[in-house]
Amino acid sequence: MGGPRARLALTEPAANAGVTLVDIQMTHFPNLLAPYDFGFLKLRNRMVMGAMHTRLETLDRPQERLTEFFRARARGEAALILTGGFAPNLEGRMEEDAPVLDHETDLTLHRSMTGAVHAEGGRVVLQILHAGRYAKHPLCVGPTDVRAPINSHVPRALGTAEVWSTIQAIAQTAALARKAGYDGVEIMGSEGYLLNEFTSALTNTRDDEFGGSFENRIRLPVETVKAVRAAAGEGFLIVFRISTIDLVEGGMTGAETATYARALEAAGVHLFNTGIGWHEAAVPTIASSVPRAAWRFAIENVKRAVSVPVIASNRFNVPETGEQLLADGAADFVSMARPFLADPAFARKVRENRPDSINTCIGCNQACLDNIFTERSASCMVNPRAGHEIEFPEGLAATRRRVAVVGGGPAGMSFAVSAAERGHEVELFEAEQTLGGQINYARMVPGKNEFNEMLRYFRTRIGELGVRLHLGRRVSATELTEGGYDAIVIATGVVPRTPDIEGIDHPMVASYIDVLSGRRPMGQRVAVIGAGGIGFDVAQYLVGDAHAAEDTAGFLRDWGVDATLQSHGGLTAPTAPRKGRQVAILQRREGRPGGTLGKSTGWILKAHLRRAGVRNLVGVTYQRIDDRGLHCLVQGKPQLLEVDNVVICAGQDSLRTLADALAATGHANVHTIGGASLASELDAVRAIDEATRLACSL
Ligand code: NAP
Ligand code: SF4
Repeated sequence: MGGPRARLALTEPAANAGVTLVDIQMTHFPNLLAPYDFGFLKLRNRMVMGAMHTRLETLDRPQERLTEFFRARARGEAALILTGGFAPNLEGRMEEDAPVLDHETDLTLHRSMTGAVHAEGGRVVLQILHAGRYAKHPLCVGPTDVRAPINSHVPRALGTAEVWSTIQAIAQTAALARKAGYDGVEIMGSEGYLLNEFTSALTNTRDDEFGGSFENRIRLPVETVKAVRAAAGEGFLIVFRISTIDLVEGGMTGAETATYARALEAAGVHLFNTGIGWHEAAVPTIASSVPRAAWRFAIENVKRAVSVPVIASNRFNVPETGEQLLADGAADFVSMARPFLADPAFARKVRENRPDSINTCIGCNQACLDNIFTERSASCMVNPRAGHEIEFPEGLAATRRRVAVVGGGPAGMSFAVSAAERGHEVELFEAEQTLGGQINYARMVPGKNEFNEMLRYFRTRIGELGVRLHLGRRVSATELTEGGYDAIVIATGVVPRTPDIEGIDHPMVASYIDVLSGRRPMGQRVAVIGAGGIGFDVAQYLVGDAHAAEDTAGFLRDWGVDATLQSHGGLTAPTAPRKGRQVAILQRREGRPGGTLGKSTGWILKAHLRRAGVRNLVGVTYQRIDDRGLHCLVQGKPQLLEVDNVVICAGQDSLRTLADALAATGHANVHTIGGASLASELDAVRAIDEATRLACSL
């Protein structure tokens, strides 16, 4: 922990309105907390909130929402905030209702956002994003008229003059950003958007001055930087998000990326941000199954090439990883986008040396990216206030109440923490000897070990807030009603559903809880009944982890990433999967299995299971289970699956015994939340959201 103290460039954080100067010699995070001085702009630490597409502008009261969203992160002491992408013109919008900043834009909203951030001592940069051929609307343009594999819209190829006018449009947006009070702009040059599309020989087959040779292909981004600098003037931060590794065929090699970065620096970039992989890449880049700091080798390649500072991004969610990276000199700043959704006060807690109190982003994507991909606004599973700041009251409740909450799963724990934060006196009863509920099973699934951080956070906060914890205590309705509580909250969760199949009590049958808790060893041939999220998770557990959570080399090998950066796009052949258990996942319905998996993570799980040889059987009618295995009809045809074990992952039912008993007592203030209230389609997003809103209403 900690790096060479000599690296610390201690400058006075002049913009630190209201922030106490930390004793940097005493902290565990001296590098993360070191201020940085660009000469014309000072940053109070090295923690950057990365740009995120939130779609908050599509909700009611967008100005208020965006202002409070950014204010909370600046108050939480993020040094530099990068906004979500604003398009420089209509063609460049990501989708039809995506925001544009051009000469017709009213700057009131922007002034409100920048004013809020500055008032909290933060700095804010507007991201300029031209979506290129990823734009999901008919005005979509690109270097050629070849459609992106992840978009149904065919782009119109930009003419040469139009490329020059696009450069001018981006420059004009930068000038307007300065007028609106931003401290700089980030030019989005990665993830396969327009500027990135021009740099790749695969997507840029033009024969004008913007295509052909390497110099021609990088002309658009380089000229963009020059034009932005000229239009916005000096003393205005120019951040460029460079693709450090494209992860698509025809992308740049590491040597080309280094040359490109030097050309951008010469054109006027003050600070590089790092992007990993195009959106169409078949390699996971930010999901929880990606080891922390896995892309460090690609970030370091840019860091070695340039003399201006570099921001590291992708899979930094705890301060320890960022601190180590900076201490090693692999980057100068750490960008965290989702972690600032999960905890707006991330940077403040680092300064206070309270890393265990950080509500850690667990990389699930369930309420952020998956919401965006389904045309909803972004929030966060572990922090439902994210993006909804204006809907939650700040501070203490008017009246302090005595509250009992039963159940120590996600719903019960988040209720207890939020209620205690509101000043209520909270007692939490949990029948097991440990907190966590279903989280204790989820965290056993390979690629989901980040759930451990969620448990650590809740445990820490329950302790800090003085919630009275009763573990191993099965409390009765009578005890609760006679306890003198002002409110009783039932969060007893769910029980696994047992389907009505002949032979369901055969010794070869196990529930997913038996398997994930490690209580029941499994044989070599396993049938999984149920193809929901848990069925897939159990299959992943059964085929074994291809790489351990921290094994970056194993992860890169499995996904065919060339860590030497010698190949174009940084791709190589993936390693062949190990031969392991034979697993089949079964569902009664017709149609593709895995339909309920997260949009941004389901494909990763499915690809991994496919490679491990897991079979999917659909249209199954279960007949019986006996010593020979599982007898069923598949598409009407009889089949015997000769398996050693059958694992039941057939959904859950609410555990409502206590809720029903309390209802019978007529107690005036009983609330049932999470799985105990509704088991179907239960997920932790809804459970935590319900719990937090209830706590804030008391
Ligand atoms: P689920 O998604 O409701 O899936 C249950 C599966 O069991 C379905 O495939 C269903 O399909 C089958 N089934 C239902 N009743 C059955 C019966 N009587 N006999 C045989 N099969 C039956 O439930 P889950 O997998 O337990 O997951 C619970 C929740 O956890 C999910 O809704 C999800 O939100 C969350 N979760 C999410 C993820 C994720 O990837 N984001 C991962 C894990 C859990 P058929 O009826 O077609 O057979
Ligand atoms: Fe992180 Fe999940 Fe929250 Fe997204 S929803 S910010 S991935 S914890």
